[in-house]
Amino acid sequence: MARRLALAYPEAICELHHSSAFELLAATILSAQCTDARVNMVTPELFACYPDVVALAQADPGDVEQIVRSTGFYQMKTKSLIGMAVAVVDRFGGEVPTALEDLVTLPGVGRKTANVVRSVAFGLPGLAVDTHVGRLARKLGLTEQVDPVKVETELCDYLPAADWGPFSLRTILHGRRVCDAKKPQCGGCALEDICPSSLIPRASRRRSV
Ligand code: SF4
Repeated sequence: MARRLALAYPEAICELHHSSAFELLAATILSAQCTDARVNMVTPELFACYPDVVALAQADPGDVEQIVRSTGFYQMKTKSLIGMAVAVVDRFGGEVPTALEDLVTLPGVGRKTANVVRSVAFGLPGLAVDTHVGRLARKLGLTEQVDPVKVETELCDYLPAADWGPFSLRTILHGRRVCDAKKPQCGGCALEDICPSSLIPRASRRRSV
């Protein structure tokens, strides 16, 4: 499945625009319950006003709230953004930490966000389990777990560490572009002949299993 996804999505890309670990961290915090497209609309102004953690750590919450309002939950996200920046400045010398156990101590940063930052910004092993990855892992018969940490553990067991991040990014793209939760496009899916949840009748499948 990982090989098929790699062929379907040669570039394992993160769709959140960013140019540094700090920007990716902030964008990922904003992406909770929000589309990447919407986040990408607000981050240019956010990063223009607060180009680094020091600037964001000193920000007026009301000003940040105005910028991030359209991403939803803007008061909580503002608190997380400024809290994250303060913590990075105070506890990590202004550098976004790379260790999972350090990243998850930052306000607004859970295991999913930490794994996104590790894999995308730092090129380190990290398999982020968002709603798409969890949903597809169950559809594909890779796990029966619902808890994201357990899903992550089981998926990591299948793959070399170097593939954790790319597999997560490709699965997210597949969930967005092909395997929609309500209307999966099984007919055009690169996994349809090996997917136990395919809606294509077995006799009509393209390849033999
Ligand atoms: S075959 Fe259908 S259900 Fe299975 S991964 Fe592809 S789109 Fe999703």
